[in-house]
Amino acid sequence: MSDYDFDLFTIGAGSGGVRASRVASAHGAKVAVAEEYRVGGTCVIRGCVPKKMLVYGAHFAEDLEDAKQFGWDLEGEPSFDWIRLRDTVLGDVDRLNGLYTETLENHDVTIFHERAEITGEHEITLASGKVVTAKYILIATGAQPAVLDFPGSDLAITSNEAFHLDELPKRVMIAGGGYIANEFAGIFNEFGSKVCIVNRGDKLLRSYDEGLSDRLLKISLMKGIQFHFNTTFKSITKNDDGSLHVEMNGSEDMDVDVVMFATGRNPNVSGLGLDTVGVEQGKIGEILVDEYSKTNVDHIYAVGDVTNRVQLTPVAIREGQAFADTVFNDDPKTVSYDHIPSAVFSHPPISAVGMTEGEARNKLGNIKVFQSDFRPMKNVVAGRNERGLYKVIVDAATDKVVGIHMIGPESAEIMQGFAVAVKAGLTKADFDATVAIHPSMAEELVLLK
Ligand code: NDP
Repeated sequence: MSDYDFDLFTIGAGSGGVRASRVASAHGAKVAVAEEYRVGGTCVIRGCVPKKMLVYGAHFAEDLEDAKQFGWDLEGEPSFDWIRLRDTVLGDVDRLNGLYTETLENHDVTIFHERAEITGEHEITLASGKVVTAKYILIATGAQPAVLDFPGSDLAITSNEAFHLDELPKRVMIAGGGYIANEFAGIFNEFGSKVCIVNRGDKLLRSYDEGLSDRLLKISLMKGIQFHFNTTFKSITKNDDGSLHVEMNGSEDMDVDVVMFATGRNPNVSGLGLDTVGVEQGKIGEILVDEYSKTNVDHIYAVGDVTNRVQLTPVAIREGQAFADTVFNDDPKTVSYDHIPSAVFSHPPISAVGMTEGEARNKLGNIKVFQSDFRPMKNVVAGRNERGLYKVIVDAATDKVVGIHMIGPESAEIMQGFAVAVKAGLTKADFDATVAIHPSMAEELVLLK
């Protein structure tokens, strides 16, 4: 008999927490998980998944336009019903929430639908007052949107609220120039909102290759998205008609209907009782862990966004899996953070794996850059003046492909397979030896001279 109520108590049922809990249970552990909001976490409930559905919905604006050149006559002007799409998406989120809950239940994981706080070495107190004990504690509480602090900033929303809007705003201002800003700018713009991005610097998508972010900026401007660079917020006030008056440093005042912050995400650590047990935290509160996701307290671990290592769902899932295998299957596993492919679901999407051109120059010195700047066939037929850009970065000394960067239709789908090649350390000669699939966009990557 264990001295504890549970072998593992997980706080947070998001991507990392759910994976860790169900795998630990499959390894024979008695597991409980506490979730104060909805099982599934940010990605499933108010992040990647519903966002991707909105991206699909948004892209029809271009598809319907392009259809004409492909011979399709659509009677009258197409119209868009935000509420219908919103409710379809939220309905699917409910379905997924149910599936994730079922997964945990099928694995005999006890779910507490309430907030949990660590109140002793091995003790957790739930919001209802119930106290339980666990041999191991896993913190998988994720992150939340960072909200800027200035007069009236409480009038702004974040991506959390964007999925629930009661009407489509006519004018949207988005703060930030990263993933969420560019994805939502694309979404709202395609739906017909007037969108402007306000960015404190002059760079979009800082971690991506400059060639790609420059191309996205050019295409976004062409599509009508406005940008205010080197601009910060002074205040937001409400106008009599309910719209918002935004004062800025570096740009003229503007009236908009919605201001949305997309200025990074902070680890969810408040009220967790970390001080009670002395768990060490970093600069923005993130939980510090070793390569096995273990904190400085031997039996307390943390995975996912709360550790602020790489804020991506598939990474959190791997961390959760590695934790469960290490602790409950006597099979020590770490996660490889090299060559993590990523994508920005902007219009058009961006995808990347490995080093950018700048990083490779700094790190390797002697590199070769192969580039294809082309107009996809579909865009040519549609009369859409939108070019894709693919870049392949090669280490001149070894011929290894060390980075691939793409902007263009379906670039995220194309990247997943090519990321395997980069992860496997294949060379430019291997790419050249691969026969193209013709006609496709992806063939550009094996035809680069
Ligand atoms: P990002 O880190 O991508 O971008 C944050 C943006 O906000 C940057 O432009 C940054 O500017 C700016 N910013 C940061 N702090 C301030 C501040 N105090 N005042 C003004 N501007 C500020 O964060 P997001 O919020 O877009 O997304 C959060 C994370 O979620 C991402 O990093 C990513 O890991 C994940 N995500 C992944 C997606 C995907 O995989 N497709 C989609 C959405 C989110 P600067 O460049 O100057 O620092």
